[in-house]
Amino acid sequence: MNKVYFTVGPSQTYPTFEHHMQTALKEQIGSISHRGSLFKSIYKNVDQKLKTLMGIPPGFRVFFVGSSLESMERIIQNTVLKSSFHLISGSFGKRWHKTAKELGKKTFAWETPEGEGFDFGSLKIPNSCELVCITQNDTSTGVWLPIQEIQNLKSLYPDMLFALDLVSSAPIPKIDYSKIDMVFFSVQKGFGLPAGLGVLIVSPESVKKAEVIQERGVSTGSYHNFLTLDKAYLDFQTPETPNVLNIFLLDKILDDMLKKGIEKLRKETDEKAKLIYNFFDSHNKYDPFVKNKPFRSLTSLVIDVKGESGRLRAKLSKKGIEVGSGYGAFKEDHVRIANFPQHSLEDVNKLIREF
Ligand SMILES: *Cc1c(COP(=O)(O)O)cnc(C)c1O
Repeated sequence: MNKVYFTVGPSQTYPTFEHHMQTALKEQIGSISHRGSLFKSIYKNVDQKLKTLMGIPPGFRVFFVGSSLESMERIIQNTVLKSSFHLISGSFGKRWHKTAKELGKKTFAWETPEGEGFDFGSLKIPNSCELVCITQNDTSTGVWLPIQEIQNLKSLYPDMLFALDLVSSAPIPKIDYSKIDMVFFSVQKGFGLPAGLGVLIVSPESVKKAEVIQERGVSTGSYHNFLTLDKAYLDFQTPETPNVLNIFLLDKILDDMLKKGIEKLRKETDEKAKLIYNFFDSHNKYDPFVKNKPFRSLTSLVIDVKGESGRLRAKLSKKGIEVGSGYGAFKEDHVRIANFPQHSLEDVNKLIREF
């Protein structure tokens, strides 16, 4: 039986994934040189298509890295000389904060109890901070931070750089890139591809900051840093041999998404999320973990199932539906349900029926 993976990452692959894999095999993508013209044209296409889909300005750079945890580390190394600020609404925000501390930066953080959002109006960021790190959608708790609230921060702190973890929400949030300097995601979530490729998108100002840090004699990373990535990017190459297969597949998935259109993808995401939340809001036993509606994730929904996670997951699995367990200490209390572009309305209805 073919399963449907509602797990939050890796997740269900895109409906066209198998077809694109066959194309990759037929075109022998596994053997092409990453210094050749075919690879460069694939990279150039991904760059343009991603910018079109997500509304990213032409001057921004699209870097390929190993994963999103790498993106967290590269962002700290390349844009923070001394201190960073972290908005923490779950384990992924915590992980980013830990990375900054391990890299010897002075850090400030604002953390909410799990499952709660922030009162953005009362947020104070110390003037000494160079970078603000925000996990837009923390997959561990299902807390979604409203884009408008995040973007308002830039006018209050215009001299700071803002970096957004969009790993489990891209390409859905509509972002004004005059207010955000860096975003990143991994392809195994909302792009429906196998794991092993991170995409890190940075503004020209962020690259300039990396130059300043290098001029001070501080390391920005050896294997990958913004300057080596940028130098290679300007010729649509990468410093190392990258995940050519996944980059090829991403190009194809972007075609599919563009054909559908981002507005339609957003509308479908909203509708499917509403169906799931409405169902659990009126369920006699289980509830959405996040109570405050503006902070409820559209793309990775966390449901409090009162300690029945293991039993429910086993039951659903027999019906061909895989959902995620709770994260960390919530393993038995929660199930996590991905609502990505590759999840069809029919599959969401089936999931709800089986519950
Ligand atoms: C999955 C995830 C990550 C980590 O991504 P990797 O590809 O495993 O490095 C980071 N942040 C969030 C919000 C995630 O959901």
